[in-house]
Amino acid sequence: MTGRLTLTFDNGPTPGVTEGVLDALRERDLPATFFVVGSWLDSPGIRELAERVHAEGHWLGNHTYTHGVPLGRRGDRAVEVGEIALTQESLGDLAHPDKFFRPNGAGSVGHHLLSQDAADYLAENGFTVVMWDLYVRDPHEPDLWADRALARLDEREWNVLVTHDVPTGAMDHLPRFLDTVLDAGIEIVQELPEHATPLLRGQPTAALNDIVTTA
Ligand SMILES: [Zn+2]
Repeated sequence: MTGRLTLTFDNGPTPGVTEGVLDALRERDLPATFFVVGSWLDSPGIRELAERVHAEGHWLGNHTYTHGVPLGRRGDRAVEVGEIALTQESLGDLAHPDKFFRPNGAGSVGHHLLSQDAADYLAENGFTVVMWDLYVRDPHEPDLWADRALARLDEREWNVLVTHDVPTGAMDHLPRFLDTVLDAGIEIVQELPEHATPLLRGQPTAALNDIVTTA
C-alpha cells in the first residue's frame, strides 16, 4: 500500500489517556494534531497535558468551547462566536499559528457543522477549518475502530483520520494501529491535505459551502 495518513485526536486532552497516546507517538517519532475542547482546559491537570502535547511537537487546534449543539444549529451569532473565540483565547500560544478549527458534529459531514455567521467569523479572523476523511466510530465501538480504519486506508491517496483521546479504551489499540500502518508502507505526516481545509488561513474554498447551514 502507498499513501499518506494525517492523525488527528479530538475532544481531549484527557489525563490517563492522552499520556499513552503521546508515548505511542513519541516511540515511533510520529507527529499529530490535537483538537481541544476549550472549557476543558480550565480543569485541573488539563492545561499541563496540553502543554506537553505542544512541547512534543504536535499541533493544537480549537474544537469549540463546550462541544455542544453543532454551530450550524445554534441560531445565535454571539454564542457561536463565543464557542470559537473563547477556545482560541484559552489555547493562547499553544494554538497552531494557522488557527485550526474543527467543528463538532458527531462525525458526520454536512450543513449542520457551521452557521453562516460562524463561517464568516472564522474567515474574517484568519482561521483554518480542518475536516476529516475517516471517522471510524471509536467513541462507540472502541475495539473495532483500528481494523475499520485499516480497511479504509485505500479510499484516497491521503487520508485524515479522526479518533478521540477520551477514556473509552479505544486508544489502547493505537500502538498496534500505528505499527500496522507503518508496516504497510503508509507515510504518517503532520501536514493537512488541501481537501481537508475548506477554509485555509481565512481563504474559503467551494467546499466550505458543504458544511455551512443553508438559510
Ligand atoms: Zn468532537
